Amino acid sequence: MAFAAIVRRKFTTHFKLPSLCFTNQLFSLNSQTQKQVFSFHTESTSSGGDGLPSYMRGAVFWEPNKPLTIEEFRMPRPKAGEVLIKTKACGVCHSDLHVMKGEIPFSSPCVVGHEITGEIVEHGPLSDPKTVERLPLGSRVVGAFIMPCGNCSYCSKGHDDLCEPFFAYNRAKGTLYDGETRLFLRSNGKPVFMYSMGGLAEYCVVPANAVSVLPKSLPYNESAILGCAVFTAYGAMAHAAQVRPGDSVAVIGTGGVGSSCLQIARAFGASDIIAVDVQDEKLLKAKIFGATHTINAAKEDPIAKILEITGGKGVDVAVEALGKPQTFSQCTHSVKDGGKAVMIGLAQAGSMGEMDINRLVRRKIQIIGSYGGRARQDLPKLTRLAETGIFNLSDAVSRTYTFEEADKAFQDLNEGKIVGRAVIEIM
Ligand SMILES: [Zn+2]
Ligand SMILES: [Zn+2]
Repeated sequence: MAFAAIVRRKFTTHFKLPSLCFTNQLFSLNSQTQKQVFSFHTESTSSGGDGLPSYMRGAVFWEPNKPLTIEEFRMPRPKAGEVLIKTKACGVCHSDLHVMKGEIPFSSPCVVGHEITGEIVEHGPLSDPKTVERLPLGSRVVGAFIMPCGNCSYCSKGHDDLCEPFFAYNRAKGTLYDGETRLFLRSNGKPVFMYSMGGLAEYCVVPANAVSVLPKSLPYNESAILGCAVFTAYGAMAHAAQVRPGDSVAVIGTGGVGSSCLQIARAFGASDIIAVDVQDEKLLKAKIFGATHTINAAKEDPIAKILEITGGKGVDVAVEALGKPQTFSQCTHSVKDGGKAVMIGLAQAGSMGEMDINRLVRRKIQIIGSYGGRARQDLPKLTRLAETGIFNLSDAVSRTYTFEEADKAFQDLNEGKIVGRAVIEIM
C-alpha cells in the first residue's frame, strides 16, 4: 500500500465527483439546513450546541491506497433523533482498512472510523424528549457501528443488525437516513461522506439509537472497541452461534474481533476454546483472553488439530474472523455434525466460499453469517460485561495512537503489526 506521511491536500485537486447525490441541490439543501439549524440554535438552548467551535478536524479517505489526510470541517449539526458527539477515541478496524484499500467499495471522499466513545454535546431539534432524557448533555457514551433507525421492519422486530436504512443509505451511499451527509469541508462547503458516523473526527453525528451510556468506571480509550470489535463478537456468540455453557468453540483469526470472540465465549461458559492464527504472538495473547488450546495454522493443519482436541467430533461452534475462502472452508470443516460455522470476517468484494453440499445436507451443518450486533439490546449488555470485568478491555487494547497518527495506525494494521486492537485517541 502506498501509505505515506499525512499530507494536507487541496480539495480542488482531489475531490472526485461521486455517482450519487453530490449535486447543486445538495449544496442548496445544506444551506437550508444551516438556516434551520440557526433558527433552532437561537430558539432552543436546552438541547445543546451553544459554545461549540465553528469548525473541527476529521480524517478523510480520498481514494484507494492513498493516505488519510486531516481536513477541517464546518461543525456538523444533528437532525431530529440524532446526537452530536465530541469524539474521545476511535478504534482501528479492518473494515475501514478494506475501504481504504478499495477492497470494499464505498463513496468517497469520506471520513472513516466507526468505533467510538465520546460525550454528548448536542441533540437534534425536535428530538424525542425521552431521547434527551436518556442521553443528557455531557453524557459519556459509546456508539455502535450499525446505527439502527428504530422504525424499519427489521428494527421493529429488534433486528437492529439488519436495519434497512443503515444499509440503504449509510453503507450504500455514505449518508444518514435522509440521504444527506452531515459533513462539509470548512474551506468550500463541499460535502464529504460518512462511513458509519465518520468517527475518526473531533465531532460526529450519530442516530441516538446507536448510542449507549458509558459508565464512569470505563475509560474512553479502551471502551471505543465496544462499538465494533466487542459488538461484533457479542452478536456472533449471542445471536448467530447462541453459545451455551459447555460448548466447544474454535475461533479462526485472533485479531481485534477474533480475540473479543474468545473473551465472549469464555463469558458464556464455553468449555474448550480453541484459538487459530498464524502468529505465535497473537496465540500467546489468546490464552489471556480465555483460549484453552492454540493452533498455529502456518505450522499445523487446523482442521486435523481441532478434530484431535475434540475427540474426532469437531467443535459445536467455529467462528471465521478473516474473510478468506481458505479459512471459510476450514471453519465449515471444523464443526461437528449439526454444528454452527459462523462467518464474521468481511472479504474482498466478490469472494466466494465453497462447501461440500452432501456434508452440509447429511450432517446438518449450519453456516451462519453475522454482522455486528443489535445496538439497542446488545450495547448496554456488553458495556456491563466490561464494567464488571467479565470482558477485559485493557488487555484487549494493545496500542494507542494520536489523532495525527491516524494514517500510521492503519498502515500498521495493514502490516499485521497490531496484536489485538489499537485505538486512536482524539481528544
Ligand atoms: Zn469495525
Ligand atoms: Zn431500521
